[in-house]
Amino acid sequence: MRLLLVEDNQRLAELTCRELERLGYSVDRVANCADARDASAMVDYDLMLLDRGLPDGDGLSLIPYIRSLGRTTPILVLTAQDGPEQRVEGLDTGADDYLVKPFDVRELAARCRALLRRPNLVHGKQLSAGNVSLDVATREVTIGDISQPLRRREVALLESLLRREGNVVPRGVLEQSLYGMDEAVSGNALDATVSRLRRRLAEAGATLHIRSVHGIGYIASCPESEVG
Ligand code: CA
Repeated sequence: MRLLLVEDNQRLAELTCRELERLGYSVDRVANCADARDASAMVDYDLMLLDRGLPDGDGLSLIPYIRSLGRTTPILVLTAQDGPEQRVEGLDTGADDYLVKPFDVRELAARCRALLRRPNLVHGKQLSAGNVSLDVATREVTIGDISQPLRRREVALLESLLRREGNVVPRGVLEQSLYGMDEAVSGNALDATVSRLRRRLAEAGATLHIRSVHGIGYIASCPESEVG
């Protein structure tokens, strides 16, 4: 598990870092927004801990950037600003949890564990792109508000693609999402499932399209929104 800690208070950063490393996480540390942006562009972290008051801006401003990279990394905001407004603002921006300073390291550890356990439910339980939505809890897929009866593995595949919408998802990652389904995953199972899912999306008038990226994997995107 690789974590990114964005904190400009050196002493607090050291303490937090030490505690997290003691728990077995590997931690990269940066102290401003610019470095955090560079680090998150290079590494797909398992978890980010984000201070708000940073020398070059509000840590919250990093969240839209991180999401624009297609990262679904859980983000825990660490801040001294404790008020319902600040909390709502943080969660609205796409943070997953909020911890007010000063915090107990045991509480920090518990929050980290909880976030790492969550299978990327970072944007709430609804994943959507264009007119396609997937409720990750109930597994219901809707296209233009009409519920679609998809097979389990088609839903699993759609979920993987939606989580990285606009980005190429490698074949290996997609194949992994199909494991554990009732049918065995044979050599062309992925391509067959993609074909079926594509057909279902097209028939239902989805604005989300799946393209193949030769030799690498697949990408799901909404061409209309790319133009705009
Ligand atoms: Ca600070």
